[in-house]
Amino acid sequence: MDNNIEKLKQTIIRQVNSESSRLKALAVRIHDNPEPGLQEYKACEWLTQFLTEQSFTLERGICDMPTAFRAVYGKGKPAVGLLAEYDALPGLGHACGHNLICTIAIGAAIAAKAAVDRYGGSIIVIGTPAEENYGGKIVMARKGAFTNLDAAMLVHPDVVDIAAVPAIACQQMNVEFFGKAAHASSNPAAGINALDAMILSFNNINALRQHIQSTARIHGIITDGGRAANIVPDHCAGEFYVRAADDASLDELLQKVLNCFISAGLATGARIEYKPDPLRYASMTSNMTLARLYVDNMKAIGREVSLFESKIPLNVGSTDMGNVSQVTAAIHPMVAIAPKGISPHSPEFAAAAASETGLNGMCDAAKAVAMTVVDLLCNAETMKKVREEFKQTRLQENK
Ligand SMILES: [Zn+2]
Repeated sequence: MDNNIEKLKQTIIRQVNSESSRLKALAVRIHDNPEPGLQEYKACEWLTQFLTEQSFTLERGICDMPTAFRAVYGKGKPAVGLLAEYDALPGLGHACGHNLICTIAIGAAIAAKAAVDRYGGSIIVIGTPAEENYGGKIVMARKGAFTNLDAAMLVHPDVVDIAAVPAIACQQMNVEFFGKAAHASSNPAAGINALDAMILSFNNINALRQHIQSTARIHGIITDGGRAANIVPDHCAGEFYVRAADDASLDELLQKVLNCFISAGLATGARIEYKPDPLRYASMTSNMTLARLYVDNMKAIGREVSLFESKIPLNVGSTDMGNVSQVTAAIHPMVAIAPKGISPHSPEFAAAAASETGLNGMCDAAKAVAMTVVDLLCNAETMKKVREEFKQTRLQENK
């Protein structure tokens, strides 16, 4: 490697080390003040304050979201996006470790300033609210927040170190059945049971489940199941998530799931109202050129990261980073902060997100991301390769 680039990467490592106590304190502060999606006011304030102190030019409330922001250092191309999440899970705190995602982005951004000073281009930290249960990046992608980026990176805490993580497409469905109330004992013949329609829907879906792809998922809850046991329920509502490997298979599966509801409505006589959520999580396409750079940089600081999982992943979720990967070259690596066996979205994982292991993982990831920014800014050929791969994958996916 060019000696100058090697020296610059060493500077970046030292920079993250010297900022590590401030970064760790910030990660713990956000962890101790968990805020659910779209209400991340404190986190947004603390993160943006950190960035303005570091000479980033700040714009808050972008895309009409009060807790979204954009902070820019340098100008022009290449423009590298470092994406930050900071929402918590209602009732569980930072059980997905998003307090570390944002401090990875901030740590990487301030360290990578040296690369901008040397080679030009820009770093753009984008604060993306409400990843959980809303999909902030889906809205932001539609509003063009990522369109001008040449690459986008976000590192997520996990129990493994993997660079190219698959994520499946996901669509929420809100379903209601409307029946007819009647006395459940003295006059049941006059009633139409909306709850039965919902229960039949679950049974239909369970029958369908044997014949879907192993990467697909269907899961739901009943949010209204009636008012009293002696009244035939005249209304029942449920929320469902339907997931599949890609957009095309999701469309196909959604139709099958819809048939489960429609047939349950026919069987019971209950009227169905069905609303697909307008926001759909797209599947994640990792840019492998970017992913390899990240793996190499992690290796250089002594952390082994798999490029991707060797087996077909079964423990797979969805992320709104998938929608970012459709508009620019993107990666969403996982950094291990807890031993295997601990599940994200659990109290144990929330504890790991403020543990010494978690905070050290955050610093490692910040270094590797900043070093990857160096690779992109210092070498036009590398950047070209990233862009070409992105164009190629979009062409294939749109065939
Ligand atoms: Zn998460």
